[in-house]
Amino acid sequence: VNHRLVFLGPPASGKGTVAAVLSRLLGVPHVSTGQMFRQAVQKGGPAAEAAREFIEKGQLVPDPITMQIVRQWLDESGGGDGFILDGFPRTLPQALGLDRLLQERNQPLTHAVLLDLDDEDCVARGLGRMSCEKCGTLYHVTFVPPRRDGVCDACGGRLQRRADDNERTVRERLEIYRQQTLQVVGHYEKRRLLRRVDARLPKEQVLETVLKLVQT
Ligand SMILES: [Zn+2]
Repeated sequence: VNHRLVFLGPPASGKGTVAAVLSRLLGVPHVSTGQMFRQAVQKGGPAAEAAREFIEKGQLVPDPITMQIVRQWLDESGGGDGFILDGFPRTLPQALGLDRLLQERNQPLTHAVLLDLDDEDCVARGLGRMSCEKCGTLYHVTFVPPRRDGVCDACGGRLQRRADDNERTVRERLEIYRQQTLQVVGHYEKRRLLRRVDARLPKEQVLETVLKLVQT
């Protein structure tokens, strides 16, 4: 069976990590749009040039350009052998565009996996991260606590909150995600491809659940 999967989920849902492990287990590539863009820019061409201008300005690449790059990637990778798309499609037009591209190739999506996490859990996870000042080891107040409060297990260094993790930033990212992705989720629900997984479960259990869901 070739798995052609889309992975959806809010920031801090652990989507990237789960997709990476699943990619090894299923033997299919795990691809983000970031990677597709980088590959395209290396090879050059008008779509890549246009994308690069937006990326350099720190703006989102518009849907038509994104779709051209996804098309190129599918042409070159022969996406029929399977893939896990991470962070794409982000909007409804992108989801419809992807459907068309895959339909042309007679290689429809097999599942869309949503790692579900409500806003409060996203914020709690996003805010609880700490790292060791000395060795950089990562901890989390709730999920990966150190043995002694504020002290690194590995080297005894002091733990600090991550600077980019203030509540407003986390909530803003979440708001953008909800605005864009809700319609994408609805689209896959209508097409009966959506599989919801509770991202509050421990990582091993999330993975186990996803594995089962994509194999049925
Ligand atoms: Zn340390």
